[in-house]
Amino acid sequence: MICTRALTYCYPGGQPLEFPDTDVRQGEVLVLSGPSGCGKSTWLALAAGLVAPTGGTLTVAGQPLGALKNVAMDAWRAKTIGFLPQKLHLSAALTVQENLALAFWANSQAEDGERISAALRSLGVQDLALRRPSQLSGGQAQRVALARAVLQSPAVILADEPTASLDDEAAADAIRLLLATAMTQRATLVVATHDARVTALIPPKSDGQIGFQRFSLVRKQLSIA
Ligand code: ADP
Ligand code: MG
Repeated sequence: MICTRALTYCYPGGQPLEFPDTDVRQGEVLVLSGPSGCGKSTWLALAAGLVAPTGGTLTVAGQPLGALKNVAMDAWRAKTIGFLPQKLHLSAALTVQENLALAFWANSQAEDGERISAALRSLGVQDLALRRPSQLSGGQAQRVALARAVLQSPAVILADEPTASLDDEAAADAIRLLLATAMTQRATLVVATHDARVTALIPPKSDGQIGFQRFSLVRKQLSIA
């Protein structure tokens, strides 16, 4: 499902980031742990095809990413990747429902009201459809962003620091929802985190390196409730 080999990335003027080889199967959870700055967000950007590797190869959901460019990459990403960014990027001027509709427009698709309702319902935020992001709690905003990420039933869900800035209860809720959503959608879930509340169950690498831990979704080892 996600397979990387000798993957490296170098920001202009930066130190090369070298990533361990990874194999994740469909329906598995991958946790990227490690201290701030070790390359977790960069790995997610590579897996989403948002940046091209400096070296090495990666295949995501059967697609060698080196073979895709520009519009083809955008189309592939829209149907394959559900991205939950660290900063949620909900548009403040739009309602929750309109924010989800925007995800369709951004991919040159007509909005699908049924899918929007179903996604909001599955995350328990259907009653918030007409609110604006400023009227949501952190946990509610997270749910809305996750609903937006999974609108197209992506094969892969990538979550960047999904518990950052959430209190304990909302953080546990966020992880529980990510696991439940991935399980329902039979998606592969990748969680990048340096949150001790999550990594308490998944010992982070102590040597400043990125660490990969694979889990079976069924075993729910990430539950921090
Ligand atoms: P993490 O998500 O684990 O905190 P990142 O992937 O964000 O790590 O960053 C990895 C390294 O790359 C860090 O040293 C960071 O400073 C650097 N970096 C991240 N983004 C950029 C950028 N846009 N330009 C230059 N360096 C960057
Ligand atoms: Mg990061």
